[in-house]
Amino acid sequence: MPLDPFVHDTLGQRVILEAGGAAKHLAAEVSRLGADRVMLIAAEAESHLADRVTAGLPVALRWTEVAQHVPVELAERAREAAASAAVDLLVAVGGGSTVGLAKAIALTARVPIVAVPTTYAGSEATAVWGLTEGREKTTGTHPSVLPVTVVYDATLTVSLPVGLSVASGFNALAHCVDSMWAPGSDPINRALAVEGIRVFASGLPKVVADPAGLEGRDECLYGAYLSAVSFASAGSGLHHKICHVLGGAYRLPHAETHAIVLPHVLALNAPAVPDRGRRIAEAFGGGEPLAALERLRAAVAAPRALKDVGFDEAAVGEAAARILPGVPPSNPAPVDRRVLETLLRAAWAGDTPGGAA
Ligand code: NAD
Repeated sequence: MPLDPFVHDTLGQRVILEAGGAAKHLAAEVSRLGADRVMLIAAEAESHLADRVTAGLPVALRWTEVAQHVPVELAERAREAAASAAVDLLVAVGGGSTVGLAKAIALTARVPIVAVPTTYAGSEATAVWGLTEGREKTTGTHPSVLPVTVVYDATLTVSLPVGLSVASGFNALAHCVDSMWAPGSDPINRALAVEGIRVFASGLPKVVADPAGLEGRDECLYGAYLSAVSFASAGSGLHHKICHVLGGAYRLPHAETHAIVLPHVLALNAPAVPDRGRRIAEAFGGGEPLAALERLRAAVAAPRALKDVGFDEAAVGEAAARILPGVPPSNPAPVDRRVLETLLRAAWAGDTPGGAA
């Protein structure tokens, strides 16, 4: 059968991966880019990691205030500080929140970003920015926010607690799974996505068994990149539309929310596209798609219930109404408000996805 026609944009970015190599590669990148007024963005909690890899860089401004989902007031303050210090490069060392703040600055200041990720969120490999005002999270895409270089160094992730590593890994897995049916899904991003699933299915149990070991950590960083590239290309599917509302309107923790919602979306969508479900299952190691995901969730004790991360069951109806307008018309399974309420209620309770025993 011929392939469905597609148009696929590839994002231009240098990607470097070497455990223990961040300081060396970061210095080389700052020099290659001709920067002499670096704004180093690293939260207080990741300061020790930033110190390890930025010694000797021409840092003109060090910024430590970081918050999830990038509140606009924070972005404004950081933008003003960047302008006052006349910075010519943003170096972000941290998770998706830190990279997100760098993106908010780059969006208006047009200053390039070098990202040194310390979680598996994957923001470093997308041109997607996000800002939150009140309870509304706004996202958009602009080439200026795509980091010019990403430096992956697994030694910077060994301090990521196991629970957070698992949640973050599931956030990345969700990028992969959603890419299988998101509006821009195509054969190229699906190939990256299934490789991402395979890598996390291999790497996450290693991280849980040996959090300080570099093999699992390396695999998860590679998987984070694959997940982000597939997601950046395929766009937001149903899963991301749900998590976007839960994160923005109810301030739920990003990675954990993704980990909890993922099996419920897989249970809904996989039966409607059996060939894609089969590829997902194979990447997880075989079996039925949901059972394959559940096997990994059980092996690494992934978070299970929205009630455990601060979501109130009374908000289910309102949340469903907020999500519904964003549901992609191309979603494989039909979705209405009732479907969303059932899904959210099951995710709230931590019930078996899809209502199966
Ligand atoms: P995060 O950056 O808020 O980090 C989570 C926690 O982990 C924080 O407390 C942080 O201090 C800690 N941490 C990070 N690295 C650590 C390390 N190596 N050791 C110990 N602790 C560490 O969360 P996140 O899940 O990385 O990112 C979530 C944010 O990223 C959300 O705002 C989300 O919207 C955004 N995001 C954006 C995109 C995009 O394409 N724009 C993609 C994915 C995520």
